[in-house]
Amino acid sequence: MHSTVQFQIGDVLIGGDAPVVVQSMTNTDTLDVAASVAQCERMIAAGAQMVRLTVPTMKEVDTLAQIHKVLRQKGYQTPIVADVHFNPKVAEAVASIVEKVRVNPGNYTDKRVFASFTMTDAEYKAAIERMAERARPLLDICRAHDTAIRIGINQGSLCDRILNRYGNTPEAMVQSALEWLDICEAEDFHKIVISMKSSNVQTMMEATLRLHEAMRTRGTSYPLHLGVTEAGCGIEGRVKSAAGIGALLMMGVGDTVRVSLTEPPENESPFARHLVQTVAALRPQDANEEGQTLYYTASIPDPEEWLISASAMAGYAYYHHHIKDLVLQNDCMPKSQVEELQATILQACRIRMSKTEFISCPSCGRTQYDIQSVVALVKARFANHPGLKIGVMGCIVNGPGEMADADYGIVGASQGLVCVYKAKEKLTNPIPIPDALNMLETLIAETAVSL
Ligand code: SF4
Repeated sequence: MHSTVQFQIGDVLIGGDAPVVVQSMTNTDTLDVAASVAQCERMIAAGAQMVRLTVPTMKEVDTLAQIHKVLRQKGYQTPIVADVHFNPKVAEAVASIVEKVRVNPGNYTDKRVFASFTMTDAEYKAAIERMAERARPLLDICRAHDTAIRIGINQGSLCDRILNRYGNTPEAMVQSALEWLDICEAEDFHKIVISMKSSNVQTMMEATLRLHEAMRTRGTSYPLHLGVTEAGCGIEGRVKSAAGIGALLMMGVGDTVRVSLTEPPENESPFARHLVQTVAALRPQDANEEGQTLYYTASIPDPEEWLISASAMAGYAYYHHHIKDLVLQNDCMPKSQVEELQATILQACRIRMSKTEFISCPSCGRTQYDIQSVVALVKARFANHPGLKIGVMGCIVNGPGEMADADYGIVGASQGLVCVYKAKEKLTNPIPIPDALNMLETLIAETAVSL
């Protein structure tokens, strides 16, 4: 595999032959300095080598600076990443404070309102130039302060301009990344990491590999950040992450990873570290394919190592050979547990949907309701609808987009209130959570009757 450019982000080396860096993101309110510092400390103790915090508005810029200062005073050198959407002024303000700024090309200057339109080539070029003009001050500040940038593409927040030209496809994600890469390279800015995230394992893998190939052809490959976004929680979230991230790592692609779980953030890094370590010892030839069925037999007593190994092997085989079935065997595990994992992996790869598919974001400082409890309630109440997809999202940044292919969804709005969606259509204004769950129940029952 083509090697990526290597550089330092704070005191962490990334890219080239550097070890894969494990990172994670807080879900505290960035305005709450004490809670955010305490959560960062727990995440670092759990193995996070880079910590990201959301910065929704200029109000959080000051508190982010305080969080950064307190962590340094306490002796932590862990690079801090600011997560910025919608607001170039915020990106410019934080670029002199933190070691890395994540920008989202889908909403830096463009919009996503699911509008259909066509643009002439001249109009399209002018829109990119507007984005470049807005990006240049940020790049100047980053260069002056040795700050890195992550070009963070999410399938769920691609802008309408890209969607109307390329569709909601892996290629659209690649083009969105390359537009920003062109802007950065034209400004001679190279401290760049790129991510291509989707809640769909296959899409995330395809977009990442296409970008990897595009960068190889252009001659310079920047470090890649891997992640399956909105992966959910528990076994399902871990299986999706291991199938997507694990398979790419098996191919030698990926310089840094984040496992997104709708759980306390300090749960993410231990699993991510175990994933990176386990996948390093896996070889595709350790499984057999007959017809379009993958057979994977192993004697692995550790349940998490077994989950990671089986998921990564299946993700790899599914990407390369479009397997249609999976047979697992592990004489160290009860048969029922092996069969349950088999079904979960098939569902994660969307080969066979045997239960309700839940899509939920990990939450962050933008979330204004208890998403972990709501996910648990939704899973308990709507578990047995094979083929049905339900999204539970923290906010509108990636919410409506990432669950665009879900049948129904709940998206966080103001304090403790949520909106109910049917596919991309918002059905309600912000309402209390019990009302939203009752409404989901009625909608799902109506769907069942109409089938
Ligand atoms: S969708 Fe979830 S993780 Fe993404 S910005 Fe909104 S609350 Fe944060």
